[in-house]
Amino acid sequence: MPATGSTVLERRDGAGLETSFANCRRGVAGYSAPWAGPGVPAKAVRWLLMRHRPLVIWPLADWAMWRWGLAMLANCNERAYEVNKSRMLRLAEYSRDCLRQLRADTGIEYDERAQGTLQLFRTQKQLDGTGADVEILRRFGVPFEVLDRDGCIKA
Ligand SMILES: Cc1cc2nc3c(=O)[nH]c(=O)nc-3n(C[C@H](O)[C@H](O)[C@H](O)COP(=O)(O)OP(=O)(O)OC[C@H]3O[C@@H](n4cnc5c(N)ncnc54)[C@H](O)[C@@H]3O)c2cc1C
Repeated sequence: MPATGSTVLERRDGAGLETSFANCRRGVAGYSAPWAGPGVPAKAVRWLLMRHRPLVIWPLADWAMWRWGLAMLANCNERAYEVNKSRMLRLAEYSRDCLRQLRADTGIEYDERAQGTLQLFRTQKQLDGTGADVEILRRFGVPFEVLDRDGCIKA
């Protein structure tokens, strides 16, 4: 049988030179969450009106972009968020296990630390807003703790 192969089309000189080149390098499966969530459309409008905008939308005449935007809006509700987050979580956990296996198989080393992640919330409202995420983590057996101020200091 002829060998099967894949062709990678890449506009840069090598792979991994764009977004993958300079991200925060956190590999936290439990953090995986869709951008499309309840409350995101209102937030997006606020972001667009800010002086130092974290979001910019160029109104291009690109049907694919508008179709994607409409699909995203249609997913900004609790039901879709829960379905999408649980799918992303399963995929992220699978990827994490593949990475562990790759490390074991190849012995590659990098500045890796596995001490968990501390996520801080400035307000009680923000903390209360994590209810759906916390429920999904609990359902999928992802270990987590909700800490108060003293707990954070100890951690
Ligand atoms: C500031 C920042 C911090 C982040 N931190 C984290 C983090 O801590 N943990 C985490 O898990 N994720 C993080 N992310 C997200 C993560 O980096 C991205 O989801 C991931 O790198 C996307 O990988 P990719 O292969 O899809 O895209 P890319 O790495 O951007 O690869 C896309 C490739 O397609 C090529 N390409 C584009 N258009 C064309 C074309 N027309 N023809 C040919 N080639 C083309 C590009 O040159 C590029 O090489 C972060 C992102 C950002 C921006």
